[in-house]
Amino acid sequence: MIIGTIAIVAVMIGIGVIVNRKLAIEPEELAGTRAKPAKVLIAAHEIGEAPATALRASEAQVAKLKPSLPCKTCRSLLEPDGTDEEVRYDGEPMRVLGFRCPHCKTKRALYIRIPRPNARA
Ligand SMILES: [Zn+2]
Repeated sequence: MIIGTIAIVAVMIGIGVIVNRKLAIEPEELAGTRAKPAKVLIAAHEIGEAPATALRASEAQVAKLKPSLPCKTCRSLLEPDGTDEEVRYDGEPMRVLGFRCPHCKTKRALYIRIPRPNARA
C-alpha cells in the first residue's frame, strides 16, 4: 500500500517534469495547437489542478491516490468531500474529485482523465 502510494507520487512528479519541460521548450507549439483560454492557465496550475492539466490515471491508480493526497496548506492528509463528479472537457470524459482538509478546511479539486479501455496512450 505504501509502496503503491510512493509509486503514484513518483509518477505524478514524472508527469510534472515532462510537462514542465514541454512548456519550457515549446510554448509556441502548445499555444498554437488549439488556442483556448484554458490553455493559458497551464503554467499557473499543477498537474491535476485544472481541467487543462488533468492527471491521467486508471481507476486503480485513482483508488490508491484518493487517500494519499496532502493538503497544500498544512500537509495533513485530505479527505474526499463527497463531491466527485463526471464532466466532459475538450470532448473527453473527466472526473473531478473533491477533497477537504480535516484540519484547516482547505478545499482541493483533482481533475482526472481515466483512459478508455480501447484508447491508445
Ligand atoms: Zn490543511
